[in-house]
Amino acid sequence: MIFFRSRPIAGAVSLILFAAFFYLSSAISFKVNSQEPSHQTLMVTAISAFNAPILLAWVGFGVVGGVSMTLISFLLVLLLDFRMGFCGYHIFAAPFFLTAFLGYLFCREKHRLDQLYVLKSEKLDEEINILLEEIKQRNKTIKSFEEKLARYSMLKEVAESFSTVLSLEDIGSLIIKKVLSTIGKAGRVLLFLVDMERQELMLSSSSTQDEAVIKTKKGDIFDLWVLRHRKSLIIEDVARDFRFPVSEADAARTTFRSLIATPLVSENKIIGILRMDSPMELAYTQDDLRLLDIIANLGAVAVENAYLYARTQELAIRDSLTGLKVRRFFMESLHREIKRASRKREKLSLLMLDIDHFKEYNDKFGHTAGDLILKHLAKSISAYVHEDDVVGRYGGEEIAILLYGRGREEAAAEADKIRALIKEKPLTLRREEASLTVSIGVSTYPDDALSEEEMIRVADMRLYKAKSQGRDQVCSN
Ligand code: GH3
Ligand code: MG
Ligand code: MG
Repeated sequence: MIFFRSRPIAGAVSLILFAAFFYLSSAISFKVNSQEPSHQTLMVTAISAFNAPILLAWVGFGVVGGVSMTLISFLLVLLLDFRMGFCGYHIFAAPFFLTAFLGYLFCREKHRLDQLYVLKSEKLDEEINILLEEIKQRNKTIKSFEEKLARYSMLKEVAESFSTVLSLEDIGSLIIKKVLSTIGKAGRVLLFLVDMERQELMLSSSSTQDEAVIKTKKGDIFDLWVLRHRKSLIIEDVARDFRFPVSEADAARTTFRSLIATPLVSENKIIGILRMDSPMELAYTQDDLRLLDIIANLGAVAVENAYLYARTQELAIRDSLTGLKVRRFFMESLHREIKRASRKREKLSLLMLDIDHFKEYNDKFGHTAGDLILKHLAKSISAYVHEDDVVGRYGGEEIAILLYGRGREEAAAEADKIRALIKEKPLTLRREEASLTVSIGVSTYPDDALSEEEMIRVADMRLYKAKSQGRDQVCSN
């Protein structure tokens, strides 16, 4: 069977056999006595043996080789027969043609099978290629799903972490941290928030403290572009971006080459800009910008929450009419500051201020006008005291002022300045010039009292004293 599978082997064996039988038959022909039956049998056997190389030649060399081998073998037998006196041996070469026919059938069948095989293998190749392509596509889809899933869980984790933080400062640094970990590339991350009063950008947080950042505290031309166009920006190479003037690009090149930036939008208002830049060109892709966009959206909600929380905190400690601190907050501050003064061996004073004859103002001008007087008074006092001093609405028209670091004399002098300031400040009520006077009682830590209750009691007592001594005065002992 191996001869039929491997054409070169079949061809080689055919040639070897042909040579062997040729040699054998020639040798016999030289010695043979054509009349001797045993010799005749030997000769006929030698001639018949040629069928084998003929068949193998068809197998090994195909039609051309098969035909040649058939004819050569036949001619050879003819020649031998002729040499031996033409005694009819060539008749035994007749089966050569039958063998040749079998060889031909074999060749034809083989050719048909070969073609079928080629066709089938081509089809199989095609199917394998299609399957490979399908596997490739599926792997791609799986990979993209895995990436999306990873991104989704990452963003879910970002959203969750944002919801746990309430202070603006913490939110800023968390946004920066999350941009770095989510985008996963090196670079500077900056978060600017819009100062609503001044309508300008202010750097809120950054991933670095280097000089260049300090220079861009109010944002550069690229941040302002995002602010003006209200859309995201990607710069692959600042030196080749013709949207921006060359001079600006040259200046920026010293710090960064590529950038992505996106606005933080809340209720259709831009409340900030989130940006990432790198000293390398082509550092970021559209995918990175998309991630930055999502973080900015989540960040905008978190920043808005932080603002809201701060506002709520502020409202909880502020009196709604005067804007001064509420009594509870004032008492907490007093408690805290007494502790600080005790720790640092410093002094602090408390002024208790009460409007003189306030009932009369109410009676004469109405309660609403009385409220306006309270507002006016609160504003004047707040404008006068230091930023760290605490001013609270202690009662209806009683205002408490905490002066840190000031002893009895200093506090009394300041109290008197406040009294004079209020008295001198013109006040028009119902188109009538009115004058307002206040009385103030002063107590000092540690001279007069050591606890907040004691401080209040002493200041109240001295206020009462000031009232009883004729009002419009300060009493500090
Ligand atoms: P004096 O202090 O000089 O002894 O006389 P006074 O008339 O000011 O007396 P008092 O300090 O007891 O005044 C309390 C008055 O303050 C009562 C009330 O009419 C008024 N008052 C308290 N809270 C408010 C407020 O929120 N708005 C207005 N309009 N008036 C208030
Ligand atoms: Mg009073
Ligand atoms: Mg009063």
